[in-house]
Amino acid sequence: TKKSVSVLGLGRMGSALANALVGEGYEVLVWNRSADKATPVGAKRVGTPEEAFAAEVVVACLTNYDVLRPLLGNEIRTLVNLTSGTPQEARETARWAREHGVEYVDGVIMAVPQQIGTPGARVLFDGSENHHVLGAFGEPVYVGAEAGLAATYDLALLGVMWSVFGGYLQATALMEAAGVSPERFTPLVGDWLAEVGAMLPEMGQEVRRNDYETDVSAVDINVAGLRMLTEASREQGLDTALPQALHGLFLRAQQAGHGQHSVASVIEVIRK
Ligand code: NDP
Repeated sequence: TKKSVSVLGLGRMGSALANALVGEGYEVLVWNRSADKATPVGAKRVGTPEEAFAAEVVVACLTNYDVLRPLLGNEIRTLVNLTSGTPQEARETARWAREHGVEYVDGVIMAVPQQIGTPGARVLFDGSENHHVLGAFGEPVYVGAEAGLAATYDLALLGVMWSVFGGYLQATALMEAAGVSPERFTPLVGDWLAEVGAMLPEMGQEVRRNDYETDVSAVDINVAGLRMLTEASREQGLDTALPQALHGLFLRAQQAGHGQHSVASVIEVIRK
């Protein structure tokens, strides 16, 4: 027979997790603060977090660590925490678990609820190398023993995503102001992103070697381009916060003597 597993939190993600566990044949207990959330079919609702601690594994998926912390108890045997937070919050919870004899796995879900239970749903995790029930949610990827590592991957990858989303929306507003619809513009962005993505391994190598020689594109030319993008946005009456921030960052690399270096040299300013 399969393990008993509890899920704390029946929000969008917690419900998806509970459903996947039921689908995999686990005996599932669920707890949620409010009564209005539906109990996933096949799961058993409990009235307090403490009742949920009876299960062999407790999966927590709550809004944030401020919500999580007061709910935890040292009767938990294994805690699989899928609540998003900072690396420091993950480390503190790992320390709490160690001090209370609770086995701890910290995971981050790189997927939306609708993808849970499909192979495309990656769950990066650290702490105990035993991934316990994570296989029910998607593809578990162990990133290392050190607490906070999965949270760092999460924020790093989301940072790339937010930069792309922000850049896309700025660009789309600019095109819209020029009378070009998102439908017409977006396919070009897809191709462009693939090309840009293909440049990253080389950039990563330059970063690792601190070697910024280039015959492709120097910081100087990019500072000029970012000034033009900022001006073009301003001319259309658009917000300029995003292009200005990038211009400012690249400008500081230029001022630090990287004008003729590759774009990878901007990391020197970020590293401080
Ligand atoms: P929801 O807002 O849908 O659910 C939040 C959950 O937290 C609910 O169960 C809610 O209970 C509970 N909660 C909030 N405040 C309290 C409180 N004070 N005491 C007790 N319980 C509380 O969020 P999601 O399910 O979308 O997200 C949950 C976690 O999963 C977050 O950390 C999020 O970053 C992460 N995540 C979400 C993804 C997504 O696409 N949704 C993707 C990857 C990670 P109640 O019903 O009582 O309000």
